[in-house]
Formats: sequence, C-alpha cells, structure tokens
Amino acid sequence: MGKKRLVSGIQPTGRMHLGNYLGAIQNWVSLQDDYESFFMIVDLHALTSVYEDPSQLRKSKRELAIDLLASGVDPEKACLFYQSEVVEHAELHLYLSMVTPLSWLERVPTYKGKIAELKEKDLHTYGFLGYPVLQAADILLYQGDVVPVGKDQLPHLELARQIVRRFNHLYKTDFPEADESLTHFPLLPGLDGRKMSKSYKNTIPLSSTPEEITALVLKMTTDPQRVRRNDPGNPEVCSVFSYHKLFNTEYSLKKIDAQCRAGSIGCVDCKQQCAALIVDKLATFREKRAYFEANPDIVDAVLDRGAKRASEVAKDTMKCVKKVIGL
Ligand code: SF4
Repeated sequence: MGKKRLVSGIQPTGRMHLGNYLGAIQNWVSLQDDYESFFMIVDLHALTSVYEDPSQLRKSKRELAIDLLASGVDPEKACLFYQSEVVEHAELHLYLSMVTPLSWLERVPTYKGKIAELKEKDLHTYGFLGYPVLQAADILLYQGDVVPVGKDQLPHLELARQIVRRFNHLYKTDFPEADESLTHFPLLPGLDGRKMSKSYKNTIPLSSTPEEITALVLKMTTDPQRVRRNDPGNPEVCSVFSYHKLFNTEYSLKKIDAQCRAGSIGCVDCKQQCAALIVDKLATFREKRAYFEANPDIVDAVLDRGAKRASEVAKDTMKCVKKVIGL
C-alpha cells in the first residue's frame, strides 16, 4: 500500500505571516512525512479577487514559494507547484461547474461575507462565485484522500465532497471524497488583537528583519487598563502574552504573569522580550530564505519538477473524467 494523498493550497496574496506559518504551514511540514503531498500555490484562486490589477501576482507567487521552502516544505518529500502551471485545474473546474447547482454556491457562508469584507473590490463575478468548484477540482484532480483544514474551512470541504458525490452519482463512478485533517492551533492575534490576517493589515510578515519584528511587536495592543508602568495588569487580555504563551518557557511565563499582575514590569520591556523570542523562532527561516533568494535557479527547478509531477497525476485523472462523461 502506498502513502495516502494529501492536497492543500495557499493563496499568493501578500507576504506570508507568522499566523500562516504557525497554523497551516507548520502543519504541512509535519504532514509531508506521512502523506504523498501536493502543495499548490493557488494563483488562479488569487486571480478571482485581484483580476482587476494582477500586476503584483507574479512577484507574490515567487515570494510565497521562497517562504514555503524556507519554512521547511521539502521538495524531496512533497510536490510544490503553481496551480496555473497545471492546466487540468481549469479543465476539471469546467466539467465540475456543469454538475454544480447554482444554489449550492450562493449559500456558501463565506461568499457574501467576503464580498462585504472586500468592499473595495468588485467580486460579483462568475469566477468568484465558482471559487468552491475550483477548490473541488484542486482536490479531485489528485484524488486526494486528506485535506488539512481549519474549522472555519470545513463548509468548503463539505461542498467539495458534495460536488464529487454528485459527479460520481451522475456518471456512475467512484472518485474519492477527501477527509479532513483538522489543524489544531490557537488563533494567533494580530497586532491590534483581532485575528492575524492580511485583510486586517495587522500581521507580522515572516520575511521581516529582526528590527522590523521588534518595531511591529512594540505596536501590539496590551491590557488597556494598564495606563502607567506600575499599574497592575491582566495578561490574559493581552495579545503580547498570547505570544509569550507560545514561545516562552513555562518558568518565564509564570514570572511575566506575576510581574504583570503586580505592575512590576513595563509593557515595553515585556514586548522587547516577546520580540526577541519571535526573532529567535524565525532564525532558521531567515537563514534558509536568504539561501533561496540567492539561488533562484534552485527555486525554479523545484517548481518545474513539482508542476511536472502534478501534471502526470492530473492527466491520469482527466483521462478517467473524460471517459466517464463520455467525451
Ligand atoms: S506587561 Fe506584558 S503581559 Fe502585561 S499587559 Fe504589558 S505587555 Fe501585556
């Protein structure tokens, strides 16, 4: 028995941040040992929201590929590629769109939410509505057994499964319905205390220098009740403390907790310590990133090899798809 197949994608919309790294990407890195993994940079998905001005897309894709390799995605273990380099994604998207009822897409919870969130963009397009169909194609193309998802993405995966189920029913076939592998990681607060997200512009980009990381952490929101340095604070309501919880030792964590409550540590000192922990956590990442930036041929070769391998599998699936439809 070969390894099960795992499929996952990430959008190249802006610089990868600490929240992506600790959530999705570290999970990819640990799963690549156990599964035959297909990790794609989903530039076609990105196009659904940046189609009016895709001028930064090429650069963002490249930066993301470097970030992923520097994070530990290993091309010897996993297949890393740009989605648009495997044309079968678009082809299967078309076939699946034939069998997907419009009402299924219109009731996707994030559809209206995203349109409201990204008010400055016109997302009333056929491409944006069909985004979940493209996701279903991404998974089915590699006949994925497992898709790593956060809880909030479960409805998307369920819809992908529904689409495959309908396809199987209509054409009397049995393509697999992928299972979820739930990513368990506490949501990382952004600089303003909300969820860390590119849309909120509150992130710590992974490619930041140590100085930039320190400057960003110094801006982070703390316990609003602490006005003066010796006011007693409550670390449980402070974003900085969430980072200490993730990166600090138990001993230091207890110490900061006590000092904060007693008002015997200033927030600036506490933030400096936090920034040093993040800088330290990302040391290997920075080193590897510099290596890949200085060696563009290696990055090109990884992506080419990834696209070739992905295309082989995609072509096999498309042969079956066309055969069962009767084309
Ligand atoms: S001392 Fe630290 S934990 Fe307490 S409020 Fe300030 S930054 Fe937050």
